[in-house]
Amino acid sequence: MINKIYNLPNTVLLPFSEVEEKQPTLLITSTPAWVAVKGKLRGLNIVATLEPIQATTEHWGELLSTYTSQAVAVYAVGGGLTADAAKYIATRLDLPLTVCPTALSVDAFLTAASGIRREGCVVYIPTRVPDRLILDLDVIASAPAPIRAAGIVDVLSIATGCWDWKFADEMGQNPAGMEFISWVYDNAQSILRGAIDCAEAAGRGDRDGLKSLYDCLAMEVQLCNQVGPARPEEGSEHYFAYCAEQFTGSGWPHGDLVGPGILLMAERQGQDIHPYEVALKVCNIPLDRIPPDAVRRIITHLPDYCRKHALPFGIAHDQEEIV
Ligand SMILES: [Zn+2]
Repeated sequence: MINKIYNLPNTVLLPFSEVEEKQPTLLITSTPAWVAVKGKLRGLNIVATLEPIQATTEHWGELLSTYTSQAVAVYAVGGGLTADAAKYIATRLDLPLTVCPTALSVDAFLTAASGIRREGCVVYIPTRVPDRLILDLDVIASAPAPIRAAGIVDVLSIATGCWDWKFADEMGQNPAGMEFISWVYDNAQSILRGAIDCAEAAGRGDRDGLKSLYDCLAMEVQLCNQVGPARPEEGSEHYFAYCAEQFTGSGWPHGDLVGPGILLMAERQGQDIHPYEVALKVCNIPLDRIPPDAVRRIITHLPDYCRKHALPFGIAHDQEEIV
């Protein structure tokens, strides 16, 4: 049984132009995100800036080694990589962290771990939950369409992740600590329905739709917080995305890899993929960026990849499904 249950960050809905931080602040950001919102975040007292460009602890450690300021607060302004790096850096510096997402592109703003690339796979290392999350829905609405609501993939992945979890239960493949829990499964299905319902509005930048997508992401993360492993939300669709990086290279938006992963894996699971495909499309997730021959190679490689990296059991492990 898990011995620590994380909470969600304290969240405020506030225009970035009204954010006031007088304390010396370390800003962690990316150039495109900062260019988009620096005119609004004039209330920050920035004494240093770091711009992570890779998701590895070596890179984040190098950034830290160049850091000499005496900031007493950390702000993360940007997307998932920025949030993951900031959670790591704020932990190392033991400073409070505020995240200001510029798009609802992933669930990393809400979680207690940072995803890093290690030996050809994605590993989640415990870091910290951001202390505060500031949501400016106008900023998110004006984010580039393909990333604005791309975090929907981390809710739609319930469709394939939960299927895997149940499948693993039927096959006797859930180890201690990952046992199938039917009420958690049912809760996850209702969150999945919420995401399908708000997809169109969130995708076009409607404020209520984006708020609903945030709610779905928050509920999905807290559900996983309660049970420990991310099994209700992470399965073969994420394994596909991790494996895909071996062929496509790193640095791809999460949604561009997980989105196709959801459809391909749901199809192999025998699910009706139509509602997922519609939700991904209306959220502007590019579904055809991975070249078809690369998709074939990823699928062929996937069962061995899952075993090599000891990923929790799912349809992606099933060699016989390969055609
Ligand atoms: Zn994800």
